[in-house]
Amino acid sequence: MKRSFYDGIIRDLKDQGFRLTKVRMAIIEELDRAKKPLSAGELIGLLKKRGLGPHKTSVYREIAFMLEQEIINRLSFGERQDRFELAALEHHHHAICKVCGEIEDIACSEGIRQIEEMLGKQKFKVSGHLIEFFGLCTSCQQSS
Ligand SMILES: [Zn+2]
Ligand SMILES: [Zn+2]
Repeated sequence: MKRSFYDGIIRDLKDQGFRLTKVRMAIIEELDRAKKPLSAGELIGLLKKRGLGPHKTSVYREIAFMLEQEIINRLSFGERQDRFELAALEHHHHAICKVCGEIEDIACSEGIRQIEEMLGKQKFKVSGHLIEFFGLCTSCQQSS
């Protein structure tokens, strides 16, 4: 089962004196619960389901705040919208189905780390990497 980061994030925000609005807490909870990175549109839909019905701009403002506080990371999968996931998650990659949009978490691997090492030898100091994979998921392969 996936670890929950909700309590820790809420505690940190409280300690730093930030306001804990209903929308702020709900966004963190939905991102914590989500099995994949969420777009702003998906977040708005999830909040509406909870009867919060926040204004689009307040959700975008919250996302900007959370990016600035490094609570979430922005991911781009070449869609029209960016996606967001909790920064506290263990480092990993994604495999995205180009047909249905299914997103799967992929663990980092020795091969990827070897590239960092190689760059290090070329005097390039790597501070991180973003690698996403695109293709067809199992069910989309079967129906094509
Ligand atoms: Zn698919
Ligand atoms: Zn990696």
